[in-house]
Amino acid sequence: MRRPDPHSYYDASQPKARRLRLRLGVDFAAKRIEGEVILEFGQEIGGALHLDSKGLEILSVQVPGHGPVPWDLDAADAILGQRLCLDLPPGTFEVAISYRTGAEAMALQWLEPEQTEGKLAPYLFSQCQQIHARTMVPCQDTPVVRVAYQAEVTVPEGLTAVMSAGPAGDEATADGRHVFRFTMPQPIPSYLLALAVGRLACRDLSPRARVWAEPELVEAAAWEFAGVEDMITKAEGLFGPYPWDRYDMLVLPPSFPYGGMENPRMTFLTPTLLAGDRSLVDVVAHELAHSWTGNLVTNASMEHFWLNEGFTVWAERRILRILHGDDAAALGWAMGQKALEDSLARFKSEPHLTVLRMHLAGIDPDDAFSSIPYEKGARLVAALEREVGEERFLRFIRDYMDAFRFTSITTEQFCSFVEAKLPGALETVNARAYLDQPGLPDTSPEFRSVQLDTLSVLAERWVEGARPSTHQIGSWKPAELQVYLQKLPRSLSQADCAWLDGHFQLMGRGNHEILVEWLTLAAAADYEPAFPRIREVLLRVGRMKYLRPLYGALGQHPRGRVLARAIFAAASPGYHGLSRRVVQSILATYPD
Ligand SMILES: [Zn+2]
Repeated sequence: MRRPDPHSYYDASQPKARRLRLRLGVDFAAKRIEGEVILEFGQEIGGALHLDSKGLEILSVQVPGHGPVPWDLDAADAILGQRLCLDLPPGTFEVAISYRTGAEAMALQWLEPEQTEGKLAPYLFSQCQQIHARTMVPCQDTPVVRVAYQAEVTVPEGLTAVMSAGPAGDEATADGRHVFRFTMPQPIPSYLLALAVGRLACRDLSPRARVWAEPELVEAAAWEFAGVEDMITKAEGLFGPYPWDRYDMLVLPPSFPYGGMENPRMTFLTPTLLAGDRSLVDVVAHELAHSWTGNLVTNASMEHFWLNEGFTVWAERRILRILHGDDAAALGWAMGQKALEDSLARFKSEPHLTVLRMHLAGIDPDDAFSSIPYEKGARLVAALEREVGEERFLRFIRDYMDAFRFTSITTEQFCSFVEAKLPGALETVNARAYLDQPGLPDTSPEFRSVQLDTLSVLAERWVEGARPSTHQIGSWKPAELQVYLQKLPRSLSQADCAWLDGHFQLMGRGNHEILVEWLTLAAAADYEPAFPRIREVLLRVGRMKYLRPLYGALGQHPRGRVLARAIFAAASPGYHGLSRRVVQSILATYPD
């Protein structure tokens, strides 16, 4: 037995599935999926096969042409779930498993109509990263195994299903429901399986890009993301032709726990990006860049997550630089620096979670999740780029994409490839310090611009009474205001808060990056006028990036803690399971 991924029961001495055929019946009343999955191996196999499953009710296991086969579920592990052990007869080409998803399936969030924009119909969406595909489908739930898939999804009439796959037709069923078919011909890791079902409408943004959302939001979404084709073209300039045919996006309800999820052919996005001024489309640049870094060349396990995210953050800022110039990219790096420092502070007593090459046996990857693989990883990539020069680095990136396309690799494979193509570069940038040592190396690249320096100095001199001029207040772009707020001291007075809100009208902001940065400052200052807005945001939005600082800052004062607990009691049923866990862990650190 050889288990290359500590988060999967996949045994590398056993055959890998090549393709999945899924039949999923979505039952909103029971909040479960009635599923059948057929795992195809593309060759004759037999003997033991170990699959990942978590909370699934296994109904039957059959080999077509042979009949039922023996199976067994091991005792449940809190992180991994249950190993599903099959004993397959010789000559097996494929195996069919019927099952039902469990009530606590972490991959699935079932929303009541009131939790949607239209409030007319229920909604279901999946989030399989980090290791939740096994709560939706029994499978080899590790990125080491890549599968093509086809799917047939039956939903109530009037609702639409979308997946991380191309559409392959739909029709009404005899029993008054509707079936949607999908096909994903390229092999993907299981964490990129994705499904959403709801009242959906779409708008074409270009011949290969479309945005989906609830009908109430679709026009706003089409306006916000109108520039996506330009981004795709710029990304192709960096990485080569777009490898997934279509680039469609889905704007989810506000409980979606992430900013975006790079599901191939159907990026999932939080509605908090709909700022009304196109100021938050960097998240789209990020998810789009994943089409190459992450989806095409994939981390072999969550221990190498930085290979997905570090490259993607670097790529996102490279795209932004081409689209909006050096100043915009420098602001992006500054925002990233803040996120990195916050994460390093959070893991002060767990330094092993601040290295890039992580050792996660026995650790839930959701607990290890932070900005570190993103921002420390991006700084290693940028250091290599600075060392060898932009042009040579871009040629290296193209070679890297070619060498590893549609494969899942480890940090060691990456390092060997760099050593072969850019000999000595890892040593010169002190890559070991990024990969294996905690914190951020002193030699990590700095990203500066005149504008960034101006904002930093002004914010640092707040305590001495320095304030932005009327001209600055009127002319700053959203990213500039955001960086300024991030650089202000964390302990403002009530008068400071009143001044900021009075001059920047922060309470009414639709840009959630600015709004949440402001509300976090206000919560840390125990600034009561902000409490109603804090309550409103926390009751509506489930994006973990916002819950973490807001609940954290509320914990600094007694009445903030009272407020936080009351809000969580009301908001918790509407949060995604991942978000709920994050908030519970923060509330547990409150002093009383
Ligand atoms: Zn990402």
